[in-house]
Amino acid sequence: MLTIYNTLTKTKQEFKPITPNEVKMYICGPTVYDYFHLGNARSFIMSDIIRRYLEYKKYNVKFVMNLTDVDDKIIKKANEEGKTSTDVAEFYSKAFFEDIEKLKVKRATVNPKATAHMQEIIDLIKQLEEKGFAYNNNGDVFYNVKKFDGYGKLSGKNIEDLESGARVEINESKRNPLDFSLWKKAKPNEPYWESPWGKGRPGWHIECSAMSCKHLGESFDIHAGGNDLIFPHHENEIAQSEAATGKTFSNYWIHFGFLNIDNEKMSKSLGNFFTTREVLKKYSAGVIRLFFSQTHYAGPLNYNDSLLEASKKGLEKIENLVHRINELLKTAIDKTAVDFSSTTYKEAFENAMDDDFNTSKATAVIFDYIKEANRFLDGNSSVGKVELNSIKEFLQATAQNVLGIIDVDATPQSDNGLEQSLIQLLINLRTDAKKEKNFQLSDKIRNQLNDLGVILQDSKEGTTYKITSVNS
Ligand code: AMP
Ligand code: ZN
Repeated sequence: MLTIYNTLTKTKQEFKPITPNEVKMYICGPTVYDYFHLGNARSFIMSDIIRRYLEYKKYNVKFVMNLTDVDDKIIKKANEEGKTSTDVAEFYSKAFFEDIEKLKVKRATVNPKATAHMQEIIDLIKQLEEKGFAYNNNGDVFYNVKKFDGYGKLSGKNIEDLESGARVEINESKRNPLDFSLWKKAKPNEPYWESPWGKGRPGWHIECSAMSCKHLGESFDIHAGGNDLIFPHHENEIAQSEAATGKTFSNYWIHFGFLNIDNEKMSKSLGNFFTTREVLKKYSAGVIRLFFSQTHYAGPLNYNDSLLEASKKGLEKIENLVHRINELLKTAIDKTAVDFSSTTYKEAFENAMDDDFNTSKATAVIFDYIKEANRFLDGNSSVGKVELNSIKEFLQATAQNVLGIIDVDATPQSDNGLEQSLIQLLINLRTDAKKEKNFQLSDKIRNQLNDLGVILQDSKEGTTYKITSVNS
């Protein structure tokens, strides 16, 4: 039974989708004004793993991730660079898709852009105005927070506390400091759209309400995003959508913990960030994804190089087993008398993932499995194709299809014939050295190859090697 911790009810609940076998899921995507950083990547990757696990459980998942392509930050960047907002948004949208692909995040079913949904946004604001939840003040339209009874139900805040804590804003046009913008009147040098309230552009929150409704309907199953979005963004989305439709907006709310640096949220504004692009130069997508998977999505996670190095070593263990299996498969006979069962590990993996997508436990199961599979291979001189394929299938179903950290059929990175021959020559020299009991030389060869990223693996069948993969 799959359970999900729901921010709305503050409990772990059994997951029951609105339509059997189908999941409709929305995640707040990037504001496209810069390359995204590794903190953003944590939210994108963990939502991808959740989606992949739902697919593993045979749900047909409709996964929507929006792009905020009209926003103060985009306008600011465009003005700084003497470009139009459209240029900036298009440039960073393209960069977003490139990076997300490198991170092996599956493409969303739809990636709606705010600027392509102006009509839906305007219609939704009109609906709120007609129902008395919105007011127009000379071209600026605001949401009247006090009018919505459930305001604060997601974040656990109540209006009175919020009011007493709110900074006194110098905004004469708002009735209440907590009211937020649905439509912003155009200022000089800003992009604008025609509307019933004059020229202007939408507020950020209304964009997600309009786009999720367009692509997933008035009620859907899962809404996700980083912890920073619980208030006010998601609280406001609920207020807008539920006031307009009178229906429950999203049944489950999932929030991702922050990626921190020295216990502080990685963010553009604090300047303590690494772009995903930079990090991908040093670590592969598999390493980054394993690093994130080793901590449950909801908890905080501190970024540091030694943790990533540890994940790199961990990934090598999985890749080494894949390589070992693929090599053995080249000569293996069909079936032998020895059996190797993955069933208990598969169950343990599923139990971990069913428990609010506990990837931390699930990766531990995979590492235990690796040890046991290697022991099995060490202890049996001839292992048949059936057993080898069953190990490969387990790794494919879990580490590849759900966590997205390996590719069991990837050809080793280097296919340069000369390089392979030279490595093989060194392996042969090392074997000769070992036969002559010259262990000083054989260790030297192994260690120096290791430093170059060539990992040697000894087994009864001889020595094989693996080149550790780093994306360039
Ligand atoms: P933004 O482009 O800032 O709107 O953020 C895109 C997504 O990344 C949102 O779901 C944010 O909540 C999430 N996010 C931003 N910073 C972090 C962080 N340091 N750790 C985890 N998620 C983050
Ligand atoms: Zn959103």
